Amino acid sequence: MLSVLAYEFHGLLYILTACMLILIVKPRAMVTVKQRGLLFIAIFVLLSVCYMSMEEIDPLVFALYLIPILTALSSMFEGWPASTVAWIAFLVCGYWIAGTEPVATVVGATVILLLGLLFHFKWLRTSELSQLMYKALLFIAIYEAVYIGIYYQRGYEVPLSMLAVILAGTFLSTALVFFTFYQVRNHERMREELYNAEKYHMIGQLAASISHEIRNPLTTTRGFLQMMGKPNINQEALERYRMHAIDGIEHANSIITDYLNYAKPSIEDARPIDVKAEINALIPWVSPLSVMSSIEINIVHEQEQCFYILGEPKKFQQCLLNLMKNAIEAMPGGGVLTITTRVDQSNVYIQIADTGIGMNKLQLKRIGMPFFTTKEKGTGLGLMVVVSLVKVMGGQIVFSSKTGKGTICEIRYVLHS
Ligand code: ADP
Ligand code: MG
Repeated sequence: MLSVLAYEFHGLLYILTACMLILIVKPRAMVTVKQRGLLFIAIFVLLSVCYMSMEEIDPLVFALYLIPILTALSSMFEGWPASTVAWIAFLVCGYWIAGTEPVATVVGATVILLLGLLFHFKWLRTSELSQLMYKALLFIAIYEAVYIGIYYQRGYEVPLSMLAVILAGTFLSTALVFFTFYQVRNHERMREELYNAEKYHMIGQLAASISHEIRNPLTTTRGFLQMMGKPNINQEALERYRMHAIDGIEHANSIITDYLNYAKPSIEDARPIDVKAEINALIPWVSPLSVMSSIEINIVHEQEQCFYILGEPKKFQQCLLNLMKNAIEAMPGGGVLTITTRVDQSNVYIQIADTGIGMNKLQLKRIGMPFFTTKEKGTGLGLMVVVSLVKVMGGQIVFSSKTGKGTICEIRYVLHS
């Protein structure tokens, strides 16, 4: 009696291992429905081979425990390819290895396969856990009745107490296995839904922020156009309003261009950029900001000679400006901003280091994600644009940071020779 329980327990461990394996492998593989079936088969075959080669199998436990649980599981959840393979495998292994009663096995396994497939195609999508468990237990009860009926009919006998132990184990394990598998699947589906929800949320936020920023210049433009319609307006004022209106529209236009830079970053007229000269030219732009919070700016060009990268100067400037602004904003109480350039045989390295507030691990992970900002007036779009522009110019960007110590950002571009 104890040995029967031990067999069942071993079987249960194998089945649960399969569930866990599927849980671990499936999300990584990002598979389609068809591949999922194949994955199920692969895991199933692997574990069956282990089971068959390592465990001694009692034919009755094989027939009354493993076959119904696994056939029901594969057919109800995974549909016909996986469950047909399982069905064939069970008939073959049952007959040649485990030594189950062939007629009872064929009839029983076919019945449960068909019931499981019926469930899969008709009810799986709409079933709650309780309905699923109820159907699974019902199908297995039908299987057991069919199998035992034929088994007795063909003149075999089983001690009733042993039968009771096996069946009790089967029903308990069915409940446990189906519960586990249902949770596994639900977990997976929830992750997917969450991912989608986040994506849509982001799109919504992006749209909202774009419209907000564009509405401001459009509103001013409208104001000026309205003023142009007033009577008794002199020529000079009219011209001024017209210029303001055009400015507003240009501003709106440039906002759209900036966002498109992110949405579809492309380098239109790539030409060699003199890295050192470009960086030196940027300093007058950032020094007013740095003076306000008494920040010292150091520029270190490790090489004397000029070197070039290929790209669009305006976008290159935009990247560096964003990074320098972030560095300055990270040092509200003053500090040192160091920009270092370095070049080797094939790469150009630009390092922007500050001695500011730094970031913790979590923040470091999230930078570059849209709308991630820790600033009251931040947009959380700066680094997102930087990352996409660096990428489109064939570069790479890495950040390292320590809370309270500062941040180092290094960009690597391919040297243009
Ligand atoms: P924003 O500057 O509008 O907040 P960014 O995309 O430029 O948006 O930056 C996102 C966030 O990354 C910042 O809010 C800040 O928390 C963090 N960050 C970026 N650069 C630095 C830096 N040099 N030091 C500390 N934190 C930084
Ligand atoms: Mg910024």
